[in-house]
Amino acid sequence: MLTFATKAFSKTTTILVVVFLCVIALKVSDPWAVRILRHNTFDVFQKISPNQSETQKIVLVEIDEKSLKAKGQWPWQRNILADLTNKILQQSPHALAIDIVFPEPDRTSPSLIIENNPVLAQQLKPHKKDLPSYDDILANEFRNHPVILGMATGYGTDQRAPVETTTSIRMYGGDVRATLPRFNYLLRNIEPLERATTQGVNNLAPERDGIIRQLPLLYNVNGTIIPSLEVETLRITNNADEIELRTENNKLKSIRLNSFDLTNSNRGKPWIYFSKYSDYTKVSANDALTGAIDDNLFKDKIVILGVTALGIADYTLTPVGSNLSGLTIHAQALDNMLTHSLLTRPFTYFWIELGYLFLIGILFLVVHKRHGALELTVTFAILCWITILVSSGLFAFKSTLFDPSMPLIFTLIMFMVSVSSGFVTEQARRRKEASIATQKEREKEARIRKLQNELLHTIGKSSVQKLSSSIAHELNQPLAAIYNFTNAAKKILEKDNLDLDMIKPVLDKILNQADRGNEILRTIRDAAETGKANLSSLNINKIILEEIELFNDSSLEKKNYIKTDLSIDISEGTANEIQLHQVLLNLIRNAKQATEEVNRTDHEILISTCENPKGMIEVAVSDTGPGLTPDQKKDLFKPFYTTKEQGTGLGLAISRSIIEAWGGNLWVEDNKKGGATFKFTLPLCD
Ligand code: ADP
Repeated sequence: MLTFATKAFSKTTTILVVVFLCVIALKVSDPWAVRILRHNTFDVFQKISPNQSETQKIVLVEIDEKSLKAKGQWPWQRNILADLTNKILQQSPHALAIDIVFPEPDRTSPSLIIENNPVLAQQLKPHKKDLPSYDDILANEFRNHPVILGMATGYGTDQRAPVETTTSIRMYGGDVRATLPRFNYLLRNIEPLERATTQGVNNLAPERDGIIRQLPLLYNVNGTIIPSLEVETLRITNNADEIELRTENNKLKSIRLNSFDLTNSNRGKPWIYFSKYSDYTKVSANDALTGAIDDNLFKDKIVILGVTALGIADYTLTPVGSNLSGLTIHAQALDNMLTHSLLTRPFTYFWIELGYLFLIGILFLVVHKRHGALELTVTFAILCWITILVSSGLFAFKSTLFDPSMPLIFTLIMFMVSVSSGFVTEQARRRKEASIATQKEREKEARIRKLQNELLHTIGKSSVQKLSSSIAHELNQPLAAIYNFTNAAKKILEKDNLDLDMIKPVLDKILNQADRGNEILRTIRDAAETGKANLSSLNINKIILEEIELFNDSSLEKKNYIKTDLSIDISEGTANEIQLHQVLLNLIRNAKQATEEVNRTDHEILISTCENPKGMIEVAVSDTGPGLTPDQKKDLFKPFYTTKEQGTGLGLAISRSIIEAWGGNLWVEDNKKGGATFKFTLPLCD
């Protein structure tokens, strides 16, 4: 039969195993909730320790509120943008990345205005070929300069997509296209601008919780690999003719751009390591246009041009908590690449995390099964610390993202389930112990009650026995005299030659009756000496303690009145248990009554045991009563001697006869406290 604790235990093990399996299933299936939890934990790392490195190579040109105020609403005419880019490109930057897409022609171009206005078209027809196109003006500014334009990926049916990329891409070690973000639509720039520049995808993709964390380096648009604005910018700045993709098992390992290696590519989708404050050199587009800037500000720098004016620019939440403009996010991503501080999450981490979860699960199952709450708490604390230290260490020193969220939650759940089951088991154990204690208490009570009944019965019986014995003793002598006298009378009658035939049968009858009476008395006496019956080996200390409890139970007064000094290594004695109780009760009751006769506050009854030099168990009951006079000592053990109003005077007489029947002695001594000490001996058990 299973005990309650075992049932609770196996139930907990089942719960632990179910939790274990659920966590493993969640880890493998990786639903959105688990992913977002993991990503939020990675955000915590970035919040606690944001990116500190910032390259001096990047300068931002912002089309901000000030610029719009000066040059009018957005989008600007492209001749203004041409003017702006001219001012930048004059200073020979390493590259000018423009975080803007120009998908349609500028309809403010004079050449386009006349097409839409028949009256003007008529008037200006002869000059049509001289009328400028702002798009051409902008394209001319771009031409022969390291300019990279943005493009946007999406899903649509644009006739111009797919495209052959302007950038040559070469793969070494396998085709990675299947693992890249896939789109079937690419929003491109108008042809004149496209021809004069190179392009990269510049749209940002925040996750479902609105936070941008990762940035694809390459895109697969209908089978064509398109680089991101950052990768294309790096290609240009590194004078690379092509983008070399190093792959392994058809997964991107690294990107090589001439001599520049982008190793932390995280299979094409690295994590941006954000800095809280983007302290890049920032210039308002208006200042660049009006020439209110340093002449060498853009020289050999990577310039990123984009819109930051509120209401037009897109601002996105980042893991470090701040809302950053798309322009700043591109700057931070490029910065990460230049300083090699992109974060990655190696594919092997999935397996390591899975293995770690297995380890946690098994550890808890083992510890829970074999150990208690303390060991569980220690295991919990150690696992939490290991998880936190390992994940934050890998983040700080390896720039890699090891997921601590799942192991921590798993550890917590396993700990809580194990510990709460421990409480259930402990409670069950205590309840069981309490019920055993109650049961024992009941058994003890029953035994004491039985003992009390037997004692009362025995006292009654013993009193009668003692009385009978005394009567037999007292009557035996006169009966013997009657017998002798009758016998003598018979002889005298025979000598006088009297006719005694008549009297003889009568005398014989008297004789027979006397014989018979004598026999009866002998029988009574024999019956009074049956104390020898039912002897057994007893633990005297145990009997004394029981008797004290019995006595205390029957007395309503304070319980610690009776003290003991019992020898621990005392051997067992030979006695009749019930009668021994009777003797002890007599002595304790007498001692108590004696103490009541004296008015003092330090009353004490002390019961001690020891083995005396004669090899017998010696029991002493001392009191602080009035003690005994020499006369009293003489008569004390005689039947019917009493000084008490309600006394019988039989207690000590019976006790002595009982003790003596076992081969022991009962006597009294004076003690130092002025009271009496009754002592008796018992033979040791053979
Ligand atoms: P009972 O208690 O009925 O009187 P006992 O035979 O037990 O009969 O005691 C006889 C008498 O011995 C008591 O009446 C009492 O005078 C005396 N006695 C017994 N025990 C003590 C004691 N511990 N201290 C003083 N006197 C005692």
